[in-house]
Amino acid sequence: MFTEPHVEQGWIEVICGSMFSGKTEELIRRIKRSKIAGQKVILFKPSIDTRYHETEIVSHDSNSVESIPVSSSLDILDRITHQEVVAIDEAQFFDSDLPAVCVKLAERRIRVIVAGLDMDFKGKPFGPMPDLMAMAEYVTKVHAICMKCGKLAAFTFKKIQNDQTVELGERELYEARCRPCFEEGMAMIKEQLKMDL
Ligand code: ZN
Repeated sequence: MFTEPHVEQGWIEVICGSMFSGKTEELIRRIKRSKIAGQKVILFKPSIDTRYHETEIVSHDSNSVESIPVSSSLDILDRITHQEVVAIDEAQFFDSDLPAVCVKLAERRIRVIVAGLDMDFKGKPFGPMPDLMAMAEYVTKVHAICMKCGKLAAFTFKKIQNDQTVELGERELYEARCRPCFEEGMAMIKEQLKMDL
């Protein structure tokens, strides 16, 4: 489990993993501990993520913390006043300026906690996540349980495939899968697509 370093300086933490891996729950755990310690915390999410309540971040166990939807990563800088901790959820949906924004915040001695999907449903690095993971001091990769075989899962499998990478998550549409089950599923989808032609 991640333990905060005892230093008076800014840094970047990344929490990444597949869908259903508990990324948001881990983000909320860290936010709540900071709040209990009396630190000033602000939480952002991309305005694209409108699955639930507009101004709330909601994890699947409805352990919720208020969040601010922003349409670009530069908007985050405009909204920082005196916060000690800046948290960002669903970071994969942000633009390519997000890593630079996080660095700026860390340079201002702010603790930056970023959570997001590290891979898209094709198994490719997702949006600004690979850069963030490279530039962060701390990276925590959380895992789901494969919904096919019960082993540890790092991949998000999309049961109905099309070319839209940004599609909001539904339990009917996505599954957490281990590598062999993910590869098997992708091979099946490729077969199906060939048959459709
Ligand atoms: Zn599996």
